[in-house]
Amino acid sequence: MVGLNEHLVMLVADIRPKLATVAIVDLNGRFLSRAQISVTSDPEKTIAKIVESMLRMKQNHPQRSFEGVGIALPGRVDSATRRLRFAPNLGWPDFDIKEAFEKGPGMAVEMDNAANACLLAETWFGGIDGVRNAVLVTISEGVGTGILCNGQLLYGNCGMAGEFGHICLDTNRPLCGCGARGCWEVFASLNAALRYYAESKPQVMARAIEDLLRLASEEDAKAIAALTKQAEYIGQGLRVITAALAPEVILIAGDIVAAWGRLAPVIENAFAQSILSGWKPRFIPTHEAEVDRLRGAAILVLQRRSSNGEATGAKRMPRRAVPAKKKSLVKGAGRRVAVLST
Ligand SMILES: [Zn+2]
Repeated sequence: MVGLNEHLVMLVADIRPKLATVAIVDLNGRFLSRAQISVTSDPEKTIAKIVESMLRMKQNHPQRSFEGVGIALPGRVDSATRRLRFAPNLGWPDFDIKEAFEKGPGMAVEMDNAANACLLAETWFGGIDGVRNAVLVTISEGVGTGILCNGQLLYGNCGMAGEFGHICLDTNRPLCGCGARGCWEVFASLNAALRYYAESKPQVMARAIEDLLRLASEEDAKAIAALTKQAEYIGQGLRVITAALAPEVILIAGDIVAAWGRLAPVIENAFAQSILSGWKPRFIPTHEAEVDRLRGAAILVLQRRSSNGEATGAKRMPRRAVPAKKKSLVKGAGRRVAVLST
């Protein structure tokens, strides 16, 4: 009697420090179109190129109903102002990203941190159905976390909750993009693994994490040592997260999950060195981080519809005035909204 309306789609973008992916996503999480755009230090020009790509995609799908624009960002977004508040790896000056996107496709824009977007996608489409306390850790150019606490995404004041990547492990160590020294991401990010490898004076250079993973798969000892060192630091950081939040599940997203079979025992061992109560969360690798960031950006748009009561024709309410229970991320609630949209 009811079903998903496959004509409803969202325009989404996943912006990373060097590359952005633009796509159209439908209610089933399927991609109708995808393109990649290079990201520069100039936000205005970069967003103009992304908007241009979005408009082209929209023109190519005239039969679809576009519900809005969702953006995943490598930083924290202030939920009140919707401006990018903290993004050390992107290096963009203070810039009204939301307004720049709204002027383009002429639709409402929702933005959030990439780790939050990944966690939303895992909650809706992934395998953590029924889990109410989870943390998703993205291991990319930096280290980001998204937190599900009692079934709700945790934002904290100014949207800054979850910056575990910038907890200091050693003040004498390398400078972080945030301006401090020895942050967890300085030791546990992809850039850290590449640095460990370069410091070992290898005969073959690795410019990207893909190179390092390939070398490790070919049993290159220095590549394996670099990834192992990174994994040890990942395990150390997960101890901090577990002590702070006691999640049932910790999801790990990023390119390194391609070597999960090799690295998981290293992470588990580093973590196990100081378990507080003999209990530990389940560690689950997420193999579709890029897809998750885009799907999560689409869910941001659907959540806005849900929160504003648009699906049922109720009067539109400001986001901050929405009762907490209406923002439930429980999978069934999201699906119900999708059905009502038909
Ligand atoms: Zn830092």
